[in-house]
Amino acid sequence: MRAALIDKPYSVKFTDVPEPVITKGNEVKIKTVVTGICGSEIHAFHGTHPFRIPPVVSGHEVAGIVVEVGSDVKSCKVGDRVTVEPHYGCGACELCSEGLYNICSGKSVLGSKGWIGSFGEFFVVPEQTVIKLPDNLSFEEGALIEPISVGMHAVRQSGLGVGETVAVIGTGPIGLGVMLSAQLAGASKIIMTDALDFNLEIAQKMGCRHTVNVLKEDVRQKVSEITEGKGVDVTYIAFGHESTFADALNITKRKGTISEIAIVGAPVKIPISILQLNEMKLIGSNMYTRTDFEIVIDAIASGKFNVEPFISKIMPIEEVERAMEIVDKKTENVIKVLLSF
Ligand SMILES: [Zn+2]
Ligand SMILES: [Zn+2]
Repeated sequence: MRAALIDKPYSVKFTDVPEPVITKGNEVKIKTVVTGICGSEIHAFHGTHPFRIPPVVSGHEVAGIVVEVGSDVKSCKVGDRVTVEPHYGCGACELCSEGLYNICSGKSVLGSKGWIGSFGEFFVVPEQTVIKLPDNLSFEEGALIEPISVGMHAVRQSGLGVGETVAVIGTGPIGLGVMLSAQLAGASKIIMTDALDFNLEIAQKMGCRHTVNVLKEDVRQKVSEITEGKGVDVTYIAFGHESTFADALNITKRKGTISEIAIVGAPVKIPISILQLNEMKLIGSNMYTRTDFEIVIDAIASGKFNVEPFISKIMPIEEVERAMEIVDKKTENVIKVLLSF
């Protein structure tokens, strides 16, 4: 089958790989229609991702069509338009029994450790990961459910309340997913920060009234002005860099919450005393669970989330090399690049 293979660090090829086959009764085979390029694919491309290790057919932000089902599958059938929640837990541990399979230490993630992902024309997943797309969702919208669900999970984890104020550090796909989810949760003010005006303009297009370009403006001063000197109730870190943690501690109000979503490779030095002095909470957020997917799908289907501004480019899988370069080196302004089969 046709596929994009990251064969070694800094090398991605459009090539032919063996087609995966159904081997268990609970499995579903899906034909990829569109798939997004995620930051984690760039880490894999650099050879720095902890578990997406070349050679790998990666890909996990996807919409496609069911082409075959195992003998025990009941919840979907051939021809269904679907997305997948691209991970599942061991099913046996305490966390899995509580529905917290997203943090199960034995979980499997699509597009890693030999499990062929959606950078392939076909991929095989267990039935419980498959979610049908409503008729009014396009395949392109379907492929955006996964990255937006990361933001939805973070917002639900943080317990953001109606009328509360929010800052989001990093206005890429994850940060924008947080923004939409915070809008849905009823946040009164949302402040988006980034180093790129292009990204901040997309946030404005999606209804954000407060944006800060961190290269041109003082983020602490701006947040202080917008929140009458109090700081925000919740700060979400959607861009991993040492400086963003210090910023987060300084722009969040006393008793406030900081949610860390970004993947940070190396240990960082942070002024932790601010956390202690101000009795703040620092919490982590890892991927999502089924509920996050369901809320996001419903919000797109009902018109509450307009995700069209996410889609910067749709390129054929044959052009994966150029597509990866655009996302990696930012040779063009993009939020999300989708690959089509
Ligand atoms: Zn992703
Ligand atoms: Zn488990």
